[in-house]
Amino acid sequence: VPFGPWSGDVADHLIRYTRGGFLPGMITRAEGSFVHDADGRAILDFASGQMCATIGHNHPAVVQAMRDAAGEPLHLYSNMLSPAVVELAVELAGMLPPTLQKAMFLSTGSESNEAAIRIAKLHTGGFEIIAMGHSWHGMTAASNASTYSGARKGYGPAMPGTMALPPPNGYRCPIRHCAGTCDTTCLDVGFEMADMQSVGAFAAVICEPVLAAGGIVVPPEGYMRRLREHCDRRGLLLIFDEAQTAFGRLGSRFVFEQQDVVPDILTLSKSLGGGLPLAATITSAAIEADVHAKGFHFYTSHISDPFPARVALTILKLIEAERLVDKAKADGAYFMDGLRALQQRYETIGDVRGLGLLVGVELVEDRASKKPATALAPALVRRCYELGLQTTQSGAARDPASGAVWKLAPPLTVTRAELDQGLEIIDRALGELTG
Ligand code: PMP
Repeated sequence: VPFGPWSGDVADHLIRYTRGGFLPGMITRAEGSFVHDADGRAILDFASGQMCATIGHNHPAVVQAMRDAAGEPLHLYSNMLSPAVVELAVELAGMLPPTLQKAMFLSTGSESNEAAIRIAKLHTGGFEIIAMGHSWHGMTAASNASTYSGARKGYGPAMPGTMALPPPNGYRCPIRHCAGTCDTTCLDVGFEMADMQSVGAFAAVICEPVLAAGGIVVPPEGYMRRLREHCDRRGLLLIFDEAQTAFGRLGSRFVFEQQDVVPDILTLSKSLGGGLPLAATITSAAIEADVHAKGFHFYTSHISDPFPARVALTILKLIEAERLVDKAKADGAYFMDGLRALQQRYETIGDVRGLGLLVGVELVEDRASKKPATALAPALVRRCYELGLQTTQSGAARDPASGAVWKLAPPLTVTRAELDQGLEIIDRALGELTG
């Protein structure tokens, strides 16, 4: 397959799922921070697969765990227990506060949020869901209704009763209130709007504690505590979707630990299975008991399957053993320093932000107007790929109001030399395209 045209003409029989189509080349090997194509080209993966390769690609311990787990039952009926699934639930419970102790395992992030919303509806008796503008929760009915509207265009009405809060984006304040120093005014205004629309049937707020797909938006200090107050006052359950943020990437096991707030329901996916389909919806014993008495949950997916659970257990142990949480914090600071140095040289970099190794580079036409450089972002993603660095676009890809944000999220196992290599490629691509 030649490293040729920027389209999927070698993949005529596949349905394209992104606007850009398929990348050129066939990926035949993956190891650590790199994927390799059939021609032997090594591509540094600063997208961590689709944010699942948190401990790098094909970690030898994970590959060995799969070999071992292949000897266990591959699949069981949902009411049968296996040691691996119970061990994983116990391991997660040990990491989480006493009110997050009951886990259900599923296969995708969409499903974990769909289940969280079902649980919230059953428990509260309400149906109104408040999401956050520019968030991403999945492609199934309720998870997609809570996902920002750009991802729903053409699909008709979202689930009735879904509302959105303005995202706490300090660089592009959606209520034109803050200029640089973000506060919680947008949250208070958002709830006033929600109260105006509610018919008295609130069920839950669902949000990413740091917005990943919507432009790497880190809420200001105190924001989540205020959100918790708003929820408690209205009897709303709080659902945190940590698909992209859990297990160390942002410098703590879970982001909510840094925000001093505990959600009523936590959803996990991506990193948990390290590329295998595995997700979890976790809640309190009290909510679980109530929902068990009232309603019905039934899935064929990995509720009781030992195989992905064994892999997840291996990943969680590796993150601890290799002290990847602290490493992500230190490497994130190093990487962000490198990007801020590039910001000094390139006017087109309006903002560099993030936490740990989840970093957003906001591209603007000029810093005064802050007009999103919407054509530049995909061009940089493409040029970097040609130069051997896989990155993705956050924001703007689906909604221009979220800005043109370039997302950089290397595996937590990345080396400093690989970070430097990535920075060099970014510098070169910026120079060529904006120089
Ligand atoms: N939540 C978040 C925060 C996500 O980023 C994603 C996927 N991008 C999902 C949920 C949906 O997960 P999946 O694609 O596995 O259904």
